[in-house]
Amino acid sequence: MKATVFGTGYVGLVQAAVMAASGHEVVCVDKDAEKIAKLEQGIIPIFEPGLEEIVLTNRKNGRLRFTTDPEVGVSHGLVQFIAVGTPPDEDGAADLKYVLAVADTIGSLMSEKRIVVVKSTVPVGTCDQVKRTIEARLSKRERSHIPFDVASNPEFLKEGSAVSDCLKPDRIILGTASSETEAIMRELYMPQNRNHEKMIVMDVRSAEMTKYAANTLLATKISFINEIANLADILGADIEMVRKGIGSDPRIGYHFIYAGIGYGGSCFPKDVQALIRTGDQQKYDMHLLKAVEARNATQKRVLLDKILRYFDGNVEGRTFALWGLSFKPNTDDMREAPSRAIMESLWEKGARIRAYDPKAMDECRRIYGDREDLILVEQQEDALDNADALIVATEWKSFSAPDFDEIAAKLKSPVIFDGRNLYDPHQLKRHGLDYFAIGRNGLT
Ligand code: NAD
Repeated sequence: MKATVFGTGYVGLVQAAVMAASGHEVVCVDKDAEKIAKLEQGIIPIFEPGLEEIVLTNRKNGRLRFTTDPEVGVSHGLVQFIAVGTPPDEDGAADLKYVLAVADTIGSLMSEKRIVVVKSTVPVGTCDQVKRTIEARLSKRERSHIPFDVASNPEFLKEGSAVSDCLKPDRIILGTASSETEAIMRELYMPQNRNHEKMIVMDVRSAEMTKYAANTLLATKISFINEIANLADILGADIEMVRKGIGSDPRIGYHFIYAGIGYGGSCFPKDVQALIRTGDQQKYDMHLLKAVEARNATQKRVLLDKILRYFDGNVEGRTFALWGLSFKPNTDDMREAPSRAIMESLWEKGARIRAYDPKAMDECRRIYGDREDLILVEQQEDALDNADALIVATEWKSFSAPDFDEIAAKLKSPVIFDGRNLYDPHQLKRHGLDYFAIGRNGLT
């Protein structure tokens, strides 16, 4: 089949590459000329395991093409995916200007039947808006009879495992009332839907809502366990034991109940905010999500408070080794990453950072540029040189079993502040290290 994808970010590029790898002919359109130029040269602008390989293979065999020209995109695919960003606007609601701009483009350029599929995360009612935008464009043109449909197909991939999530999705949510659209989408997704039925077809509004419900529930789990962890700290209980204890109940399960320094990334913070605003617009108070958001904001400071307490409130002139910049492992994405809140607060208080991340160093350079109080090092051990303490902000595999004797020997104050509960407190004590984690103070 022929498909077009507008937006070549984490979602659009991965979706496009996976469709091409399944045999479809895909054209990617992005308005970012630099990004498209890179992709045309075979340079992948983001890091995702396995992405480079499938993009390069399918670019070579001609099934995956890139352009900045929307006309090429609109004339190519029967199915037109909209996978552009929906960042928060000033009051936290999802800003739909990119989505509606693409709808406007499609409406003004289409000359034959098109199925427009909204993959971006959008508030309930957006597909109706997309439809109205296209209709408005068409009615201004001669050939206003061109048939089209707008469907909702939210994306559930996880950064860090986006390619495998897209190749083997847990579910494919499709919002449409049209049996013809459903048949076309079934054909498109057939390779992902072969083993067993994964497509859940529903009305458009429920599909739009499903995405927000999923992300905000996951964010709620994180804020819940963080709240319990903070209380465990005060009471001298160990959240890791509590986690194992509650996860063993199949109604609760082990997923997404790790205590830490808060959720980040491009999705959870903005989707929680957006659903709160949707509630506000409907005069319905989203009490629970407001608490989830507030807990997350304070959680990003929990480790910093421990650091300040340890150094008697004064970190001026001190140097901190920081392991982990990305908001989670296996990605270079630093949007809303807890590492940023930690670095920025320490800089404000006159401290320096020596940071290492397996994939996000370029992104860090892009965000912060050259500054005296940030040194990015090539090896994780090099971050320890002349550092007072070590901070762990992301649970990359390579941080999970370091040489603790080397850490103890190199640090001026042998102390680790672990925002991801990676280590065994008893073990660290044996290596002569002080250890502060999240919800484990009974052990440190
Ligand atoms: P992104 O910021 O990485 O990429 C968006 C791309 O859209 C950019 O390259 C931008 O240049 C392009 N764009 C903007 N306007 C355009 C236009 N008019 N024409 C063509 N291209 C245009 O965003 P992302 O992380 O891929 O997220 C996209 C959407 O998918 C968002 O709504 C997001 O909430 C949702 N989503 C993201 C994830 C994730 O893990 N990142 C997962 C599921 C859903």
